[in-house]
Amino acid sequence: MKEGGLTGGRASASAKRVFIKTYGCQMNVYDSARMFEVLAPLGFLPVEKPDKADLDIFNTCHIREKADEKLFSELGTIRQSKMMNARRGGKMIIAVGGCMAQAEGAEILRRAPFVDLVFGPQNYHLLPELVAQVLRSRGDRVVATDFPAEPKFDHLPETSASQGVTAFLTVQEGCDKFCSFCVVPYTRGAEYSRPVAQVLAEAARAVCSGVREITLLGQNVNAYHGEGPDGRDWGLGDLVRRLAELRGLDRIRYTTSHPHDMDDGLITAHRDVPQLMPFVHLPVQSGATRILSAMNRPYTADAYRRIVDRLRSARSDLALSSDFIVGFPGESDEDFEATIDLVEEIGFAQAFSFKYSPRPGTPAASLCKQIPEYVKSDRLTVLQALLERQQRNFNNGCIGRTLPVLLEKPGRHDGQLVGRSPYLQSVHLVAAERRIGEVIPVQILAASANSLTGSLEESMAG
Ligand code: SAM
Ligand code: SF4
Repeated sequence: MKEGGLTGGRASASAKRVFIKTYGCQMNVYDSARMFEVLAPLGFLPVEKPDKADLDIFNTCHIREKADEKLFSELGTIRQSKMMNARRGGKMIIAVGGCMAQAEGAEILRRAPFVDLVFGPQNYHLLPELVAQVLRSRGDRVVATDFPAEPKFDHLPETSASQGVTAFLTVQEGCDKFCSFCVVPYTRGAEYSRPVAQVLAEAARAVCSGVREITLLGQNVNAYHGEGPDGRDWGLGDLVRRLAELRGLDRIRYTTSHPHDMDDGLITAHRDVPQLMPFVHLPVQSGATRILSAMNRPYTADAYRRIVDRLRSARSDLALSSDFIVGFPGESDEDFEATIDLVEEIGFAQAFSFKYSPRPGTPAASLCKQIPEYVKSDRLTVLQALLERQQRNFNNGCIGRTLPVLLEKPGRHDGQLVGRSPYLQSVHLVAAERRIGEVIPVQILAASANSLTGSLEESMAG
């Protein structure tokens, strides 16, 4: 890469600054962290404001239409900074990565011609070369959206020291399930699992740098089937058991799991592995089997109920969260009622619910019987009221209990820390900052819709 090319002067390597804005899911959060690592050897230092950067990366999401519009509004703002920078003789590179870049690269370049680089989620290990191409080019835009033959993980640098006590670790990517509403198989590509040894090495490095909780990530994380050290495919349950042997790793989580892939190996890991947190995000999408079938989800509503029963028999204190889509094409009032019935029956500690958003190129987008927007909105209001009530009840049910809390960071008030319960609730309490990283018993005194307040058990104070 040309030295000093970014700022237009003779900038030293350390003068280069990169800003990354992350949209969407935890996998994008993980990817953005890795992008910083890929760029660090070139002298790029992270900055927190886009107008202060030489390289602005927007790591996008394409899952719903709203996400697309947010990006274009953000790009409009950064364009002004790029123009001001150019007047001063500098060159600011604007790059769009992630799922929207993969699916809509040409549209992004058409609507935002000042974008210099578009790259897909499987190409960010190439960033050094792509940025160099932009600098060499005379205004040509650079596009990298092919799916490479070799997984990017084989080419990424080793992860550097983690900043906090929790970390994400992508173990599985892509999806072969092709739910009829979803863009992921087109944007992230075919399902791929990282080898066990690679995952263990990354986890060990994280623990060495102070991480106490790892969340294993994948589009369908429980479809994990990575090559084990013994040459056979390991499932997620096997991987969890092995990770639990890492000294210093107190907590293991995984997300997002698919009901179809919830096998005995993983369910028994919930029974046997105390480090595996008793909180599972298990998206059902709908409580109506007819709609599940139209969504190309390979399970019935009753099969989902049975999986929940098996999980709860394995670990009686296990709590659940889920994803729901309302207003999928053809969803009748009865179908929606079936979703409400399922929610009432199972009881969720947390949930994400969305109006169906037709995505170009997906089979459901061209189905007839699209549901009017006002019906979707009404159904979402009803469902969310029920889910919020369940979340509040779950949180209230924690009052008076003593929960193990991983202390994560200082809170907003002096002397306050914020930690997480096993159920991912934020817990606020008074404790010394040096205790960050410890898992301690906390007596829960109060609850709100989204968090808990507690105090250290007497014996643990000080
Ligand atoms: N792989 C996970 C699964 O199968 O449950 C879900 C991953 S997806 C990235 C996250 C959530 O976005 C889905 O569970 C679904 O509820 C929601 N979603 C995906 N496509 C959608 C669409 N077209 N409209 C509305 N919500 C959508
Ligand atoms: Fe999308 Fe999940 Fe379905 Fe895959 S399984 S297509 S990621 S919703």
